[in-house]
Amino acid sequence: MSRAVLLLLLVPGLGWAQPFLRTRALSNTGDSNLCVTWGVRKVTYRMDAAGSAKTPVEAEFTAIDNAFASWQNVARGCSDFEFVRGARIMNPKVGRGSADDNVVTFREENCREAVPLTDACQSDGSCGNKYGCWEHGDATIALTTSTYSTRTGVVFDSDIEFNAGASADGARFLFTTISSPPCVEGMESVFCTAYDIQSTATHEIGHFVGLDHVNGTSSTMAPTAPLGELQKRVIDPGTASGFCGTYPRGKPPVPCDELAQLKNKITARNTGTLGCSCDGVLVAAPWLAVFALRRRRSAR
Ligand SMILES: [Zn+2]
Repeated sequence: MSRAVLLLLLVPGLGWAQPFLRTRALSNTGDSNLCVTWGVRKVTYRMDAAGSAKTPVEAEFTAIDNAFASWQNVARGCSDFEFVRGARIMNPKVGRGSADDNVVTFREENCREAVPLTDACQSDGSCGNKYGCWEHGDATIALTTSTYSTRTGVVFDSDIEFNAGASADGARFLFTTISSPPCVEGMESVFCTAYDIQSTATHEIGHFVGLDHVNGTSSTMAPTAPLGELQKRVIDPGTASGFCGTYPRGKPPVPCDELAQLKNKITARNTGTLGCSCDGVLVAAPWLAVFALRRRRSAR
């Protein structure tokens, strides 16, 4: 299976802001005229039964449900999109594996500590699922991995991971659920707001539905979050308009660039470069889109 990972780099301070941006799919021809979009309107998410080790009782599950409920509230006004809570699962797998299960999981340990250096998973990127560990960047708070068709941009599976493991310097993100007061750097506890689960999940669900980062700090889809931030709990109007414009009630999802999409299909037919061509149907391996919410570094 051929896969590519699309990493969105943090580019701060460009001085302009757009209301929303849809996630572009990487196509086999190298351009990006397709958008990553769900083809169905009823999508089930499943939370890792292990929850978050440091969050009291069941608060993390409620926070994640609240984040999906915020998106459901937006959907009620414009779309027939439905977010359905499925049963919690044990040892969830990220990416398209045995099941397209749309998991939400807290990775409590970094793969650097969890995985022996001799394990072959080190070379093929499979350690995260094998050991249930965080195998992405230390500065990344959470990350959404979407698997989609390169031919259509249609999503098969989208999974959300929270980085609760220790970074190289031993520090780790503390995920909390209470709304005040904000924690002071270096004195994080569950009795103040450190990295808010609902706020983080609301941002990641934006990726889940096919929205990309935008510049500016006031958007739900801003690429960074500082300690103590709660504002991404509220889906801003620009982000909501991106969702509503993509999944209009009673109509198919809106392509991000219909003309370019057509051009892409013609190019593919002429050159035959897209995967294998079987009975006139182009079969492309699913690729991955990976987007992360990163920590905003405070000024020193
Ligand atoms: Zn993000």
